[in-house]
Amino acid sequence: MTAQDIPHYETRNAICEYGRSLLDDDLTTGTGGNLSARLDENHIAISPSGIPYGEIEPEDVPIVHTDGTVVEGDVDPSTELPMHLAVYRERPAVGGVVHTHSPYATTFASLGEPIPASHYLLSFTGTEVPVAEYRTHATEELGEAAVDALGESFNATLLRNHGVLTADESLDDAYTVALMVEYCARIHHQARAIGEPEILPDEEIDRLANKLDSYGQ
Ligand code: 13P
Ligand code: ZN
Repeated sequence: MTAQDIPHYETRNAICEYGRSLLDDDLTTGTGGNLSARLDENHIAISPSGIPYGEIEPEDVPIVHTDGTVVEGDVDPSTELPMHLAVYRERPAVGGVVHTHSPYATTFASLGEPIPASHYLLSFTGTEVPVAEYRTHATEELGEAAVDALGESFNATLLRNHGVLTADESLDDAYTVALMVEYCARIHHQARAIGEPEILPDEEIDRLANKLDSYGQ
């Protein structure tokens, strides 16, 4: 099969590549975590469940209707499909969702502590990274807890005793947010280990978020 024969090749290939990046960037271990992207109003592509990231090919990446029906692909979609669909349902502007088990952020998730803005790059996600209530993985209830915590404006939430969920306009952007959350969690952990970090006020985070919108070439 050539790339042209595979529907939505580019997006499904991006899911494969970002899956490998999750391991390279230390954002997860084993087959943990998952990624998805919106294809159109009624369909998403999402990583398959439990396949090592190095082995996933674009044609393996399931395409799923927003009602949960798989319309393409021979392998099962991620078990966290209900959580991804809940985010797309509640946040129409979201085009990509990333779930990681990144270690520093997950440390705060296990403590049930939101990550505050002790570094300016936290402005990628909002004024803090909130914590969603604990719910069993791969359930509708976890999806509800996650969208409650994300609310209308946060781009990331911790999943208590589990990991991280990020959502943004595109898969590229959601992946960047996942990297930023882990970086800020690490800095916050390190700063706390040797002192008491100062937290940036919400007004400064709002100003920074506007600046970020115009950052880059
Ligand atoms: P999947 O392999 O089914 O995507 O599950 C990984 C995971 O992180 C569950 O929370
Ligand atoms: Zn998980």
